[in-house]
Amino acid sequence: MKALDELTFDNRFARLGDAFSTHVLPEPIDEPRLVVASEAAMALLDLDPAVAETPVFAELFGGHKLWAEAEPRAMIYSGHQFGSYNPQLGDGRGLLLGEVYNQAGEHWDLHLKGAGQTPYSRMGDGRAVLRSSIREFLASEALHALGIPSSRALCVIGSTTPVWREKQERAAMVLRLAPSHVRFGHFEYFYYTKKPEQQKQLAEHVLSLHFPECLEQPEPYLAMFREIVERNAELIAKWQAYGFCHGVMNTDNMSILGITFDFGPFAFLDDFDAQFICNHSDDQGRYSFSNQVPIGQWNLSALAQALTPFISVEALRETLGLYLPLFQAHYLDLMRRRLGFTTAEDDDQKLVERLLQLMQNSGVDYTLFFRRLGDESAALAVARLRDDFVDLKGFDAWADLYKARVEREANGSEELRRERMHAVNPLYILRNYLAQNAIQAAELGDYSEVRRLHEVLTKPFEEQVGMEQYAQRPPDWGKHLEISCSS
Ligand code: AMP
Ligand code: MG
Repeated sequence: MKALDELTFDNRFARLGDAFSTHVLPEPIDEPRLVVASEAAMALLDLDPAVAETPVFAELFGGHKLWAEAEPRAMIYSGHQFGSYNPQLGDGRGLLLGEVYNQAGEHWDLHLKGAGQTPYSRMGDGRAVLRSSIREFLASEALHALGIPSSRALCVIGSTTPVWREKQERAAMVLRLAPSHVRFGHFEYFYYTKKPEQQKQLAEHVLSLHFPECLEQPEPYLAMFREIVERNAELIAKWQAYGFCHGVMNTDNMSILGITFDFGPFAFLDDFDAQFICNHSDDQGRYSFSNQVPIGQWNLSALAQALTPFISVEALRETLGLYLPLFQAHYLDLMRRRLGFTTAEDDDQKLVERLLQLMQNSGVDYTLFFRRLGDESAALAVARLRDDFVDLKGFDAWADLYKARVEREANGSEELRRERMHAVNPLYILRNYLAQNAIQAAELGDYSEVRRLHEVLTKPFEEQVGMEQYAQRPPDWGKHLEISCSS
């Protein structure tokens, strides 16, 4: 276990130089105080969890203090936002403080979001509000606990610094961890500004640090692109299987590591709704829940375009062609598991599609349905769940197929089936209304609800005593919360 001043830095991205990032010091927020910290994320840096409560912790992650070895940098990138190319984005309100390596030899980027203005802030104030910082923190740690790859969050630091959005709010900072903060948009920036040498330098950096196994392939760049395609297909399959809606799948928010990244107006589905749009600013529904699948491919095509100096168009096209079949295979595998199957049958896809259609028509809670389906024998579970559906005939027909399918599994006892299903079907997810309750209390200075919710979400598959209220469908007010970008 380490104290805060014992972190070991090795700032590999900063060493790429000024063509890739700009030195900027964090702008402190007033009266920094700990809102919440993640013990699991602290463990990634070998940090003793007790240090979160010390004043220096809030000072470091509130921008007041800096390690001597840190080299805060605003990264330069561009990207496609809602389908249009924006030539200049970059870290407008976040800084890469440095890279720390832990005892296991892993490198972690320390990225401080809400750290003040940078040359890439455009019209923005460089700040993040408490509400969005809490949402990013909770989502990062909740996704990780669900087994969905994500950037991680070490802590949220609150303050008294006023920030103007639609109303006056308070500034906060969130410390984000990821093995890399390189986005698709980094490659796009050097491609569209026609800087082939720097683009090559970036590609070599990413290849050697993050995809070293690709260096052994005959075409390392192509192998890397293939790996990025595979990871994204798997990631988006997980989002779809668990009802996660990212909200702003712009290419500057897509990590080259295939992890969930830079989420603002995200949501987990309450009622199943394939057309659900979680981002209030997304008028066209470009990033609606079901569109995430083709948008994943669109984003990979944008990355492919930027990689044309290194890889032939034919090879890129062929590799892009892997995305949909890979997505389908992962998705179906996850849904089979969510339904309690250990074997594969040809009609499983149809069984899943029919179920989702029925859920859509009746507005059934996506998370609780699967959890309840594994609570008891298939026959008892479907008999109980039947009440949630409007189209009873349709549901009965599906239930008959499902029961017969479960019979054919013949894979162990009811008890094993229940265990298997509960291990993949969470009871607790980060519902928007739960986050909202925690945020409202935090805005009044009470952080206990954020901390409790975070605790519950770190064990999403485990029934926790006294936490029933976190496993409920939202009340009416909690179903239509409006969340938009840039908060
Ligand atoms: P996002 O929607 O958070 O992914 O941000 C898109 C771009 O806008 C990025 O370049 C951000 O750094 C920048 N940005 C968002 N909010 C702010 C802000 N309050 N101040 C400065 N830049 C911002
Ligand atoms: Mg972003």
